[in-house]
Amino acid sequence: MAIVTYVLGDCPGCGTKDSFGNVDVYKTHIYRGCKRCRHHERVPLPALKKQVLYLDQFFFSSAFRSGDDRYLEAADRIARLTSLQLLAVPYSSIHEDETNQWEKRDELLKFIKATARGEEFEPAYEVEHTQLLKAFRAWLAGKPAPYQLEPSDALNDDIHGWNSYLRIDVSKYFGNIDLVRDLKRQSNEGLIDLFDKWRESNTSFGEDLKAEYTAMGRSYMDFYIQYAGRIARGDYAAIHDAPIISSIVESMLRVIPPEIPADQRLKRCLEFLLSDHFKETPYQWVNAHMLATLKMMVNEGAYKKREKALKRLRGFFFDLKHIATYAPYVDAFVMDQPMAELVTRPTVALESRYSVKTFNLNNWSELLAWLEEIEAAGMTSEHRAALASAYPGLKI
Ligand SMILES: [Zn+2]
Repeated sequence: MAIVTYVLGDCPGCGTKDSFGNVDVYKTHIYRGCKRCRHHERVPLPALKKQVLYLDQFFFSSAFRSGDDRYLEAADRIARLTSLQLLAVPYSSIHEDETNQWEKRDELLKFIKATARGEEFEPAYEVEHTQLLKAFRAWLAGKPAPYQLEPSDALNDDIHGWNSYLRIDVSKYFGNIDLVRDLKRQSNEGLIDLFDKWRESNTSFGEDLKAEYTAMGRSYMDFYIQYAGRIARGDYAAIHDAPIISSIVESMLRVIPPEIPADQRLKRCLEFLLSDHFKETPYQWVNAHMLATLKMMVNEGAYKKREKALKRLRGFFFDLKHIATYAPYVDAFVMDQPMAELVTRPTVALESRYSVKTFNLNNWSELLAWLEEIEAAGMTSEHRAALASAYPGLKI
């Protein structure tokens, strides 16, 4: 006996009238059952290869706050494509962190999760951790430096599966809320204070890049040393309250082969943090190139007016993190104009390096066209038939 969501007809097993139908949809098949007996069937569904789109906070906050037709039109098409099983727009831990800075965070987060139909990326910290450990193992094994990017670094393997009714039924969120934009200016004031110093320095792009990598590598080591120092002093609270970044080097130490003497292990970690393997991990690469490119733009005369710079670069460190963590893993990424300007510079060239399309308000019609193409290409007769049997109520 089953809970039948869509009755299709009489049961082939017990013959009860109008008792047999779809119970639910799983990743690869429809499960059908009977209200009266244990008769059931599994109907296989064709394999899916969804396009994956990342919507950064700019999209969600704009769509949520304003009645701007541009966002609403895009949001409608996105909702249609996700229900047609052709597109996935998961949310990430960075959306959650950034949303916590908002006054109406609960409503905004509900909107983000509804748009994503509850689908999530692997948390940002996990992605960073996975990349570093994979690169560290490759470095220890003497393998080449270029990073072996795998979708599973950042994406759940359910992403290309058929959605269950639970996901399909996540209702669209239509709150009539005039969200006050109250993003704390957090560290972007500090960033803009740096600009004057940057303008006076005459280091080259290559030197700036190297400095960014060194700073990142050193921070992993510094956090670990602080953590290990606390543990050595018997301060075991460190296990629970030390910043999560402290555990990167600790994880690295755990995978070092036992034949390397104990007194040389930390040194090996440090060597890795200065190596090309480290620099080639996508998060470090994108982060360092975007920061060094921003510095180059400032040196060329960009962001001279402080007030304007503060406005344009609001939320910069969150934007940077969204992009550096997830852009290498998605088919397309929607970001705001200042970030788009940064990632299209030849010194970043994000699109060609990671085969990702980038969209912003300056090429919005291209975003809409891309969404249209997905539907045109994906709605084969086989796909239509599968949609109709999996989701009898769906408007196709
Ligand atoms: Zn039956």
